[in-house]
Amino acid sequence: MSDKWSAAATKKKLKENPEMLACDALMDQTIFAGCGNIIKNEVLFRTRIHPLSAIGSLPAKLLKSLVDETHNYAFDFLEWKKKYELKKHWLIYTKKTCPRDHTPVIKEYLGTAKRRTFYCTTCQVLYNG
Ligand SMILES: [Zn+2]
Repeated sequence: MSDKWSAAATKKKLKENPEMLACDALMDQTIFAGCGNIIKNEVLFRTRIHPLSAIGSLPAKLLKSLVDETHNYAFDFLEWKKKYELKKHWLIYTKKTCPRDHTPVIKEYLGTAKRRTFYCTTCQVLYNG
């Protein structure tokens, strides 16, 4: 998430990969440089996107939110990290129940990299086709 980051360029790359899963797109360093596994989980939760959603199935407004939220979260993440308070801000990562609706959180190893993914099946919507 350097100064060279551009929302337009990020959206363009996402649109070129409509079949890519949301959980993979966020870990793709050619699309979201600097985004890590914690940010992936937190941003998908904040935008209420199911990790197995296909990028091409996301409504335009939501795709924009995904790009903007990832950028914002990456900046906040660095600030929190400096203050040693990363964990305090986790809403879904390593959690057992969803803070919104108290649904048990699902923990699975998803995506091509099989990275640890936490999500809620009640408030995170699966967009697919
Ligand atoms: Zn939930």
